[in-house]
Amino acid sequence: MNILVGVAELAPLAKVGGLADAVAALARQWSTMGHRVLVVLPKYRAIDVGAHGFQPTDRVVEVPMGWWREYARLWMGTLPQSTVRVCLLENADYYEREGIYGTAEGYADNDRRFLFLSRALFEVASVLEFSPDIVHAHDYHTALAMPLLKLFYRWQPRFYKTAGVLTIHNIAFQGVTEPARLLPLLGIPWEEFYPGSPWEYFGAVNMLKVGILYADKIATVSPTYAWEIRSTPLGEGLQGVLNVRGEDVVGILNGVDYTEWDPAHDRYLPVPYSVQFLPGKQLNKRRLLSEWAGLSEPELHRNAPLLGMVTRLTEQKGIDLVCHTLERLVAELGICFALLGSGASRYEDFFRYLASRYSRQVFVQFGYNEALAHKIIAAADYLLMPSRYEPCGLTQLYALRYGTIPIVRAVGGLRDTVRQYDPMTGEGWGFLFEDYTPEALRGAVEYALSFYNVQPHWEQLRRNAMACDFSARRSAEQYLQLFEWALERVRAQRA
Ligand code: ADP
Repeated sequence: MNILVGVAELAPLAKVGGLADAVAALARQWSTMGHRVLVVLPKYRAIDVGAHGFQPTDRVVEVPMGWWREYARLWMGTLPQSTVRVCLLENADYYEREGIYGTAEGYADNDRRFLFLSRALFEVASVLEFSPDIVHAHDYHTALAMPLLKLFYRWQPRFYKTAGVLTIHNIAFQGVTEPARLLPLLGIPWEEFYPGSPWEYFGAVNMLKVGILYADKIATVSPTYAWEIRSTPLGEGLQGVLNVRGEDVVGILNGVDYTEWDPAHDRYLPVPYSVQFLPGKQLNKRRLLSEWAGLSEPELHRNAPLLGMVTRLTEQKGIDLVCHTLERLVAELGICFALLGSGASRYEDFFRYLASRYSRQVFVQFGYNEALAHKIIAAADYLLMPSRYEPCGLTQLYALRYGTIPIVRAVGGLRDTVRQYDPMTGEGWGFLFEDYTPEALRGAVEYALSFYNVQPHWEQLRRNAMACDFSARRSAEQYLQLFEWALERVRAQRA
């Protein structure tokens, strides 16, 4: 199959969260399985084109934006450790800026920046003579590729048989914007904007809603999240729209790229380890706590349980719960806590306070740091993910492979991937709690700690965790099946 992917993030070039990892892992898998993949994303200032071997070309795409045209020069390269072709769109006005999305609220013209990306996708395919079977869009950023395919591009022979598939990685971000800004740029007449039309959403345009309505198939990143966004307030107002699409919505768990996340071959770890050499994990813990956290030999000797978090510091991730609970856990249970995170400053202030008050137990670093992320996940005994909601979550899947026991809230993909440990049978590989309350979190942490270094449970837990297989191959295969269904739908519509 020929798969054209339009996306706002792609690891390791441009990453804010799991979206970047998930798409890179899928693209690699499809390409290993013999499919042709072309990924298109913006050439953000932050992308180190030199380090990743990207070259400018003399090709420039012309992108219709309303009555006028805008342009992007193409940079070509490949996704590291793969043969996946990647095309970066150089447009200084849109992308030569700090970061990917801008501030917490996003750049004011994100609607336009991502409309440009969604439309350029088709122009790039034409210039590179790539005829896609599937256009695969991700989140609101490229959701508009779905109506663009159906309303404008499917009349071109290259896209006549193409099916559109939209993956929702996080429904909280929908790209709600002014119709007067977006509709003229898209070339959608005002008559199309009325209550109940795909283009209208409480007087605004909702880019994700339109994408959902025009996609041939819609995926989201875990089965539980697929249910939650249709049936609970986690649908963020789009429950009804998703229910209109009913059986076209499926949940496919994100998979892990185990070439990037494997403790036996992790370039960031001082000591590689595997299930056959678990003392190696302990050595990573010692190294992190002595070198990064500055603990002395007697302090290391105490071997307190280490809870780790690698996360965006946002409400979604349950940081409020952590703020309510952590100080007592540290003070009363004597645990150590390591955090790598970036996000809201009010949360940073809290962790800074805690790290200064309990400087021998709480260690924090703010900002984005790939190497430290790997080191913390390897060194920690437990990974904490008390998310308010979690579409899939990758960090807990990485933790499992590193023998780091997840303590998570039973929501979304966390519910689908973490199984409660049962000391009677020795089955399961983590600890879950239901209610979004400090008491429930504390209860789960205390219960999880009751197995720390207690044999045979501790060994069993780690073995079970490391034996889990959430490889990207399985998700890549499930997507190919979904693509087949999407193509069938297109064929049926043409017949
Ligand atoms: P989300 O996509 O909602 O942020 P996921 O758990 O799916 O959550 O994916 C998060 C990804 O981002 C993981 O690869 C995690 O290691 C990484 N990550 C999050 N915060 C940081 C950070 N501050 N530094 C480095 N990596 C981070």
